[in-house]
Amino acid sequence: GIEGLEDTDAELRLRAPVVTVMGHVDHGKTSLLDALRTTHVAAGEAGGITQHIGAYQVTTPSGAKITFIDTPGHEAFTSMRARGASVTDVVVLVVAADDGVMPQTIEAIKHAKAAEAPIVVAINKIDKPGANPDRVRQELLSHEIVVEAMGGDVQDVEVSALKRTGLDKLEEAILLQAEILDLKANPERVAEGSVIESRLDRGRGPVATLLVQKGTLRKGDIVVAGAEWGRVRAMLDDCGKQIDEAGPSTPVELLGLTGVPSAGEPFVVVENENRAREISEFRQRKLREKASALQSAARGTLDQMLARIQAGEQKEVALLIKADVQGSAEAIQASVLKLEHEEVRIRVLNASVGQITESDVQLAKASNAIIIAFNVRATTQARELAQREEVDIRYYSIIYQVTDDVEQLVKGKIAPKHREKFLGYAEIRQVFNITKVGKVAGCYVTEGVVKRGCGVRLLRDNVVIHEGELSQLKRFKDDVKEVARGYECGLSFHGYNDLREGDVVECYEMEVVPA
Ligand code: GDP
Repeated sequence: GIEGLEDTDAELRLRAPVVTVMGHVDHGKTSLLDALRTTHVAAGEAGGITQHIGAYQVTTPSGAKITFIDTPGHEAFTSMRARGASVTDVVVLVVAADDGVMPQTIEAIKHAKAAEAPIVVAINKIDKPGANPDRVRQELLSHEIVVEAMGGDVQDVEVSALKRTGLDKLEEAILLQAEILDLKANPERVAEGSVIESRLDRGRGPVATLLVQKGTLRKGDIVVAGAEWGRVRAMLDDCGKQIDEAGPSTPVELLGLTGVPSAGEPFVVVENENRAREISEFRQRKLREKASALQSAARGTLDQMLARIQAGEQKEVALLIKADVQGSAEAIQASVLKLEHEEVRIRVLNASVGQITESDVQLAKASNAIIIAFNVRATTQARELAQREEVDIRYYSIIYQVTDDVEQLVKGKIAPKHREKFLGYAEIRQVFNITKVGKVAGCYVTEGVVKRGCGVRLLRDNVVIHEGELSQLKRFKDDVKEVARGYECGLSFHGYNDLREGDVVECYEMEVVPA
């Protein structure tokens, strides 16, 4: 076939099913994935070293292959789908026989149904004295999962991940389901597929696990993955063995990309480097546009609130306060409550300790509240949700700045003229001690950008341990203006030297708020 043309029936070949394991926490998803993997590895390669690359393939006793996505749970599954990837053919729903259907079991069923992926039920922990598989079957009925024993067509298999029983039966059930789905792909075309996992390896550079879904990926191919591209320098299979080609349903670890694409992003092989660069630049531009659109949307919320207060339409300011210590949370709560006056009430939804989570954002959204983050950060998921939902998270490290801002707000005045704008995160991967310069942090930018001279906060275990400015930003030996996500850089800090591997550098700049 030629790229862009539909494959004809004659070109299509059967391919291995791709399976995602879902279910309630502690019901044995991880144990089951480990058990399925080692059962077959042990036979062929005694003590064979297995690598976690995000997906693996097993060959069943019948010779048929099954690919398992090695990140259990519906979160990864859903976030991959949100990025457009549809990799899963069959969902294995793990339900512990002694515990039965639980909230995340129900979540998993919903996610599988939304993706229109057929389910095979694995009733796990059948070895336990309290195991009651019939109760599980009964409970599944009320969630519209009718297993065969109950007259339905969903297969269920009793297994024990611990004792390694029922695993062959489970694989047979998956293969039977795959047969019904008639999964085929053309191995003879240029490769396409999805990114399963990716990271920056200190020695090897960007490393991505790709699942080939169509065609065959070969060493030397030019690949565009998400907004990154590169020539396939080397490919490793799930045992860490070098391979030269990978056909449909095969997961491979790939070296040679220019940066780190996100899980769920598509990859495709293109004819030459120019084309790859073109596509990658186009996608980078789209990403930037999207980010700035989201930022201005988020900025809208506070301005809108202010406008409503000025117009006398809004009589209440709701706040959700999160701080690094209880004392600060209480002090902020007490001082903002003093700012209340007859026209505008202040309502503190919650003043507590810890990082900002998705549930904080949901709560703030539901109550039209602003989140005050005092020396704490938001999780990546929370920040993304806040951008989507237009919830304003404001970061502070000085209490009077909180009260100043809230005071302006309740008085209906223009918000502070300078406002912090989030730039990015860099992770410290290595610390170098350089004569006359002091400590330099070898970093990897995990999100956004780092800019020369920008404001920085050093986070250790999500707590701010230093606030200041960058004194140096280098790529290799050169001073540079900015370094974007997916690249390494060297950072040093004005008058600060206590840097450790694993610390996270948060970068921001101050922007002028239009009046
Ligand atoms: P996950 O949260 O769903 O990934 O669950 P894990 O695989 O981490 O398992 C949770 C706990 O259940 C662990 O302590 C496992 O050892 C245990 N477990 C998993 N499978 C079995 C099983 O088949 N039988 C028994 N008795 N325990 C199991």
